[in-house]
Amino acid sequence: MREYSQLFIGGTWVSPSSDGFVEVLSPADQAFVGRVPAVTTEDIDRGVAAAREAFDNGPWPRMSPAERGAVIARVSELLAERGDELAHLISEEMGAPLSTVYTLGNTPSHAVLDFYAGLADSFPWEETRMGQFGQTRVVKEPLGVVAAITAWNVPMFVVFNKLAPALLAGCTVVIKPALETPLSAFPLAQMFADAGLPEGVLSVLPGGAAVGEHLVNHPLVDKVTFTGSTAVGRRIGALCGERLKSCSLELGGKSAAIVLQDADLDMYMPMLTMASLMNSGQACVGQTRILVPRSRAAEITEAYVAAVAEMKMGHPSEMDTELGPLISARQRDRVEGYIASGKEQGARLALGGGRPAGFDKGFYVEATIFDQVDNSMKIAQEEIFGPVISIITYDTEDEAIRIANDSSYGLAGSVWTSDVDHGIEVAKQVRAGTYGINWYAFDMGSPFGGYKNSGIGRENGPEGLDAFCETKSIIMPMGHV
Ligand code: NAP
Repeated sequence: MREYSQLFIGGTWVSPSSDGFVEVLSPADQAFVGRVPAVTTEDIDRGVAAAREAFDNGPWPRMSPAERGAVIARVSELLAERGDELAHLISEEMGAPLSTVYTLGNTPSHAVLDFYAGLADSFPWEETRMGQFGQTRVVKEPLGVVAAITAWNVPMFVVFNKLAPALLAGCTVVIKPALETPLSAFPLAQMFADAGLPEGVLSVLPGGAAVGEHLVNHPLVDKVTFTGSTAVGRRIGALCGERLKSCSLELGGKSAAIVLQDADLDMYMPMLTMASLMNSGQACVGQTRILVPRSRAAEITEAYVAAVAEMKMGHPSEMDTELGPLISARQRDRVEGYIASGKEQGARLALGGGRPAGFDKGFYVEATIFDQVDNSMKIAQEEIFGPVISIITYDTEDEAIRIANDSSYGLAGSVWTSDVDHGIEVAKQVRAGTYGINWYAFDMGSPFGGYKNSGIGRENGPEGLDAFCETKSIIMPMGHV
C-alpha cells in the first residue's frame, strides 16, 4: 500500500492545497493499491510559478549541457536501484503484466535517460555557418517553461521520455501524469530530487483533465508537450494555437502490419503477436490491422490465431502472464462496444470476443481476432486500445499499401518479408512516423512521432531535444570571418 500526503512542487515535497484524495484500485482485482492527494489548479499555479522563477533566474538553464546531462545520468542510476520497486508499483496500479512493465517501461526508460545524458556532449548547441554577409552563429537555447501531459499506458516511460530531453535542453517543467496511474509519479519525482535537480525546476502533479487544461492555458507556460488521445490532442492543439504556444502532440494510431507473400512467419510469429498485442492491446503503436495476401490468408490466420490462443492471460503479478486486464471498466466497455460493432458489420470472429472465465473481479477482455474484415469497418478505422485485431486480405502489394494508408492515423507500421531491401521500399510508401521490418520496435536515438491524426512533432533522437530548444541566429558584422 502506498499513501502519499504531499505533492512534489518546485522540487520539494509540500502540503497540497486541498484535503481531497484520489484512490487507486487494481484493474486486476479491484484491491486497494494506494492513494494520492487530489491536485487542484492552485497546485498547478504553484508549480508553474516555481518553474518560471527557476527558468528566469535560477541556475538550471545557465548550467552547461554536460552538467545537466550528469543529473539525467544520475536518474538512470537511481532507476537501476529502484527499478524493481517501480515495476511492481506500475504493474499494480495499471494492471500491466510485470514482464510487460520491464520490457515497455524499465528498459526504454533507461535507454531514453542514457541517450539524452550522452547527447549532452555531441548535440550541436552552437554552430558557425558561413552566411550571406560573413559568419553566423546558430545557437540552441532552452525554450522555457514546459507543461508536459502524459497518458497512463506506459506511465514511467512516457514521463521520462519528456523529462529527459526537456531538462537536458535547460527547460523547467511541470508534468501532469495521467490520473489513472498517479502512484508511480511519486518515486519518480523523488529520483530527480535525489539526483540533484535544483529548486523550482520540476513539479510532478498527477491531476485530472481540468487541471491539465488549466496547465495548458497557463500564461507563464511557453510550451506544451502532450502524449494521449487524438481527441484531447486536438483540443490542446487548438488552445495552444489560440495562445501561439509551442506545442507537440504524440497521439493515437491504427497501424498496419503488411505480411508479404515471402514472409517467414514460422520465424517471426512471436514478433508479430508482440507487435500487435503488446501491453494487452493498450499501445499507441500496436499493429492492430494485419494485412495478409489472399493466397496465404487461411494459413496465416490459422497460425496467428493459434499463437495468440497460446498467450497466457493471468494476474499481472505473475511473471509468465502475457495478457492482463484493461485499465478500467470504462475502457473494457469501450472495447466490448467495438467487438459488438465488428460482429454487426460482418467481420468473422476467429478468436475470443468475450470476457475470460475465472477473472470476475478485473477488467479482462479475451484476446479477440476478427478476419474477413473490410478496411472501411469501424474496427479497422478507429483506435480501440484493447486486444482486438483485424485481419484484412489483399490481392496485390499496391493494394496492401493503399489499405495501410487508408487511415486517418499515421503513427507506425511494419512489413513482414524475407527481403529486407524490398521491405525498406514498402516502408517508404506508407505514411507513418516509424516502421519496422519483421518486428516493431523503436529506437531512442531515432525520431518517433506521427503523420496525420497521430500527431505533430517528434520525440526521441536529437530531434526530440531540438523540440525543447529555441534557435537563435547571431549574425556577425559584414566581413567578419
Ligand atoms: P487521454 O484521455 O487523451 O489523456 C491523456 C492525458 O491528457 C491524461 O493525463 C489526461 O488526464 C489528460 N487530459 C485529458 N483531457 C485533457 C484536457 N482537456 N486538457 C489537458 N489534459 C487533458 O489519453 P489516455 O486515455 O490517457 O491514453 C491513451 C491514448 O494515448 C491513446 O490514444 C494512445 O494511442 C495515446 N498514446 C500515444 C502515444 C504516442 O507516443 N503517440 C503514447 C502513449 C499513448 P486524465 O488522466 O485525468 O484523463
